[in-house]
Amino acid sequence: MMNQSSYSMQLDEALAFMKTYDHFLVVSHVQPDGDAISSTVVVGWMLEKLGKSAVLINESELPSRLRFLHQFDSILKYKRDETQQTFDAIISIDCADFKRIGEVASSFAPDAKLLNIDHHPTNNGFGTLNVIRAEAAATVEILYDLIERAEIALDVNCATAIYTGLLTDTGGFRYSNTSPRVMEIASHLLALGVSGNELADHLLEKMTMAKLKLLQLALNRLTFTDNLEIGWVYIGKDDLRNTGAVPEDLEGIVNYALNVDGVEVGILFKETEDGAVKASMRSAGKANVAAIAQAFGGGGHVRAAGCRIEGSLTTSIEELVEAVRKALI
Ligand code: 5GP
Ligand code: MN
Repeated sequence: MMNQSSYSMQLDEALAFMKTYDHFLVVSHVQPDGDAISSTVVVGWMLEKLGKSAVLINESELPSRLRFLHQFDSILKYKRDETQQTFDAIISIDCADFKRIGEVASSFAPDAKLLNIDHHPTNNGFGTLNVIRAEAAATVEILYDLIERAEIALDVNCATAIYTGLLTDTGGFRYSNTSPRVMEIASHLLALGVSGNELADHLLEKMTMAKLKLLQLALNRLTFTDNLEIGWVYIGKDDLRNTGAVPEDLEGIVNYALNVDGVEVGILFKETEDGAVKASMRSAGKANVAAIAQAFGGGGHVRAAGCRIEGSLTTSIEELVEAVRKALI
C-alpha cells in the first residue's frame, strides 16, 4: 500500500505535468460510467483554470443522464477520420488498463506523454506518469486531492461533478469504499452548494420506462446455482432494441442477482454488438472478482469487476460461472 508522502509526490508530479504542456487530450474508458464522465469534465475544468486548452473525448456514446454536468456537451464522441489530429500530452482517467481507452488511443502521437490517473487496484501503470490510488473510492476523489494541491478554489460546477463521481462509484455512499475521507469531501462539496438530494434522486432513483422494461425482462431471467451462491442474468443483443433501453440502463441490474440472501457473486452477461459477451461481476466479499476478471483479460475492484469473453452467451455463462464456483470453494 502506498504511503501518504509518495501519493503527495505523485500529485505534485501530476500537477507539474499539467503545467508543462499547453494542449491536452483527456480520455476515459469505453462505456463510461458516472465517475469516468465526471472525472473527464473535472480534468477539463482544472486545465482551463490552469490556462490550458484540452480536447475531451470518449469512444462510446455518453450516458445522457449525466447531461446536467457542466461541460458535458464539450466531450466529443470519438470518430475516426483520415486527417486525424494527434496529441502529445494525454491525460487518461479511470482507465484500469490501456485497452479500456479504446480507439481514442489512435489519436496519441507515437511519442506522446501520458498521465494515468486511476483508482483501480488492477491498473498496471501504463502511463509515462501514474497516479494510482486504490484507496480512493473514485477517480474524482484523486482529482479533488489534486485540485486542493494546486490550490485552485472549487466552484459549484466542479463540486457537482466530483460529487456525482463519488455518489455513483460508492452506490450512493453505501459500498465499502465509502471511507471517512469520502464523507469529508462530500461534506465540503455540499457546503459549496451541491444539491445532494437532487443528484441522488436523478442518478439513483429515477428511471425511464424503457429501463423498467429491461429490468422486468432481466428479473425474469434471474438464475442461481443450486447452492444459491452465484446468481446471474443475461441480456441479449436485441433486448435493448426491443425495450428501447440504452447501454447505461444496464447499470445496477447486476445488483438484483447479488442482493439475494446468501448470494456471494452476482453476474450480468451482456451480449455485445460484435457477438462477444461483456460480464459484470459483483461480490459480497468472499470472492475477489477482480482476480477472476483478470484471468479472463479484464479487471476492476475486489468487489466489482468486469471482463469481455469471446464466445456465445451460453458458453460464456458456463465458463465464468464455473470459474466463480471454483473461486468460492
Ligand atoms: P462494470 O461491471 O460496472 O462495468 O465494472 C465494474 C468495475 O470493473 C469497474 O471499475 C470497471 O472499470 C472494471 N471493469 C469492467 N470491465 C472491465 C474490463 O473489461 N477490463 C478491466 N480492466 N476492467 C473492467
Ligand atoms: Mn471509477
